[in-house]
This record gives sequence, C-alpha cells and structure tokens, in this order.
Amino acid sequence: MAKKGLLLCVCQGTCPSFQEMDIFEVGNTLRREKLIDYFAIHPQLCARDGDIFLETLLKGDSTDKLYVAACDPLMQTKMFRDALEKAGFDPKNHVGIDIRNKNTEQAIEALKELLTEE
Ligand code: SF4
Repeated sequence: MAKKGLLLCVCQGTCPSFQEMDIFEVGNTLRREKLIDYFAIHPQLCARDGDIFLETLLKGDSTDKLYVAACDPLMQTKMFRDALEKAGFDPKNHVGIDIRNKNTEQAIEALKELLTEE
C-alpha cells in the first residue's frame, strides 16, 4: 500500500490565516482515522531549513505520496521544486492543499476529502 505522509505548515504560527484552527487536532484526527502513515508540523517549509527537512525526509523510497497542508498549492510547487528534485522525489507525488482561513473542522474536512479521493 502506498505510504502517505502529511505535513502541516503554518507560517511560523504567527500568520492570522492559521489562527482559527487547532493544528494538532487536525493531525490527530487524521492519524486516529488512519488516513495517513505519518504526520508532522513544520513552522516554515519555504525557508532554507524547510528545504533541508524536505530533502532529508524524502530521500529514498519511504514516502509514496506527500500531502502538504499549507498555503497555495501552486506556490508550494514553486517553492519546493528544488528540494524535491534534490531528494529525487517525483513532484507529481506532492499534493498541496490550501488550508488558510479554515477552522479546525473545515481543515479536517478538506483533508479527508483529498486523502480519500484516490
Ligand atoms: S510554505 Fe506556505 S504556509 Fe509554509 S511558511 Fe511558507 S508561505 Fe507559509
């Protein structure tokens, strides 16, 4: 079975777009329902150490699909391109989802929909 990872990135936790949700509850709900194989929160994936995190995480074959709940998916594609390439991770297996301005329930619902559609 394909291994699915979920990362949440919330602009260091200071951006107002993410203030309405409990990010731990979002991840815990999806873990409890076994919709993902692993879950992590990163404060700023688009920073230099975010690149290092992505490269380190995705090197090898441990993840088949990486879901990133954060900002605009198109922006994510551009920002993570180099790190995914360095890790040898096919960008088609990165699935971005915008969870800005959602509350906990809305973020969970949007992610559940995405995670169960394949
Ligand atoms: S990747 Fe997106 S959500 Fe994460 S810190 Fe950068 S702009 Fe914010």
